[in-house]
Amino acid sequence: MDKPNYIKNYTLDKLEILIQDFGFEKYRASQVFSGLYVDRIDNFKDIKTLPPKLRELLIDTFRINSLEISKIRKSEDGSIKYLFKLFDGKQIETVYMPWYDETDGEIERVTLCISSMAGCPVECAFCATGTLGFQRNLTSGEIIDQILFVEKDLGIKVTNIVFMGMGEPLLNYNNVVNTIDILTLPKNNLLRRKKITLSTVGITAKIKHLALSKNPVKLAISLHATTNGFREKIIPMAKGIQLNALMESIEYYYRKTRIPVTYEYIPFENYNDTEEDAKRLAKILKRVPSRVNIIPFNDISFTGAVGFSNKLKPTPKDKILEFGLKVRHYGGAVTIRDTFGTDIEAACGQLALSEGA
Ligand code: SF4
Repeated sequence: MDKPNYIKNYTLDKLEILIQDFGFEKYRASQVFSGLYVDRIDNFKDIKTLPPKLRELLIDTFRINSLEISKIRKSEDGSIKYLFKLFDGKQIETVYMPWYDETDGEIERVTLCISSMAGCPVECAFCATGTLGFQRNLTSGEIIDQILFVEKDLGIKVTNIVFMGMGEPLLNYNNVVNTIDILTLPKNNLLRRKKITLSTVGITAKIKHLALSKNPVKLAISLHATTNGFREKIIPMAKGIQLNALMESIEYYYRKTRIPVTYEYIPFENYNDTEEDAKRLAKILKRVPSRVNIIPFNDISFTGAVGFSNKLKPTPKDKILEFGLKVRHYGGAVTIRDTFGTDIEAACGQLALSEGA
């Protein structure tokens, strides 16, 4: 099956070149962008500012929408999981998470957890997506459409996005960086750079590239261990990413961007939740301005995962609190995070195309 030529795969610069090749002036590309991202048209015919000939050329050359909603599951806590189908039958998941103002109960911000791949090659032992293996990278159009489709379906504006859904975004570097460039273009009025977080297991060379890119964003490092030995057990790819090299790339990122870093840490009972771990974690946290989000381990037994995954048990809630206090005692900044959507398998690490009831 031929890969469709989605117009949302194109950054403004690239579209300007294409439109000039069609024989039109380059400012026409901005008119196309405004039709797609401001007016949210579904048909090039509706961009009335364009000459009819150019509209026809666009219709013949590009497709606008790349996703089909195949299932929606709503959680009791207000989060919603979307299952999207791609042109080749592959499926991906996106999670909508509303954050409520404690005083008036109104939604104060909306975060969308988006996918950058179908499946994932990293195969973390605590993650349901890893059990699917790698299927393919998503194009920029497929990543952007997750936001536009949810906004349209719910009639809301997404205020923050996190690349924490399916996939390791830095292994789909070019498409992810192009996506960020399109999303943050001021006239598209989609998102500000500061509202974008990219979660990574730490592909060191790409962290350094991102630091020098046009639009570096907030980094969330999936750390989950304070020793190379345990990290390699739960993140097989970490064999090639030793903690020293990871820390060196993070320091580089901070030096170049001045953006504080977030670490993600899932405590697993009796593996990475000891006093020594708290001490080492605090030491890591002090290397650049940063904080750690401590996240409870969410059950992935519904995937039938085997091997080391089966040995991992969540640290009980009171012990998580104790661990967080110890890290704080040793000088690290800590947030203990709630988890969204556990009842619909939409929580961190649970995305694996389970359709449920
Ligand atoms: S945690 Fe992220 S990198 Fe690891 S397997 Fe899951 S999706 Fe991939």
